[in-house]
Amino acid sequence: MSNMSTMYQTDNQITNQNISNNKPLYLVDSHCHLDTLDYTTKTVEQVLAVAAERDVQHCLAVATTLSGYRSMRQILNPYQQCLSFSCGVHPLNLDDEPFDLALFETLAQSDNVVALGETGLDYYYQQDNIEKQQDAFRAHIRLGRKLGKPVIVHTRNAREDTIKILKEEQVLSGVLHCFTEDLDTAKQLLDIGFYISFSGILTFKNAESLREVARYVPLDRILIETDSPYLAPVPYRGKENQPANVREVAEYLAALKGVPLTTIAEQTTKNFSKLFNITV
Ligand SMILES: [Zn+2]
Ligand SMILES: [Zn+2]
Repeated sequence: MSNMSTMYQTDNQITNQNISNNKPLYLVDSHCHLDTLDYTTKTVEQVLAVAAERDVQHCLAVATTLSGYRSMRQILNPYQQCLSFSCGVHPLNLDDEPFDLALFETLAQSDNVVALGETGLDYYYQQDNIEKQQDAFRAHIRLGRKLGKPVIVHTRNAREDTIKILKEEQVLSGVLHCFTEDLDTAKQLLDIGFYISFSGILTFKNAESLREVARYVPLDRILIETDSPYLAPVPYRGKENQPANVREVAEYLAALKGVPLTTIAEQTTKNFSKLFNITV
């Protein structure tokens, strides 16, 4: 609570403090790469303890390759009581190793795997394998339909193809993570039942158009995330991001929406449980 009232001076802060003094908050980091933080000077246990101190009680750890999924589980399995997992291949990691669809299907059915991804399209960093990206994206959506699991979608410079493929493949459900697209894209995603996840980018000085989108998206369709170790929010920019910092995203969103922090915590946790079909 310490720095909240000084950081975001809005009328609802007093309400936030009154309510949260009575009832502990329950925040969820819906997207992090917890296995890839720098563990030379700290442990996973410590990272989770720091998160819990800031009421971040659950994290969804997201894979970017199939081999990475396996090593992620080795590192994180001891902490499953506060974690869930996603299995898939990131569009920028498709050249790292063969994408074995049979193995993907097997791994995607392991315990506590609540989603497939992250998948999607990234034409900003890579354009020489667009067809490969699209094929892999389609494969994730199809498996999601087969297994009844949502997809976690990454998109950059590829909004039209992303939406086109989601529609063509009749995606079951999912979230556009780390949303940085325009309002029209958000509307189209909401129309197909998608959730929109906001990261620390929301707090960046130059992110006014993103804040417009966040003001628009209904609270019952919003998730919050860190995407740690990337994208540390203000005031931690340039440092390694951690799940604890989803607190900053939640506080910022509360001020932006003009609602108490408790409302953001309760609603985003409820959304998380609904989308990923788990009780947290
Ligand atoms: Zn991503
Ligand atoms: Zn990610």
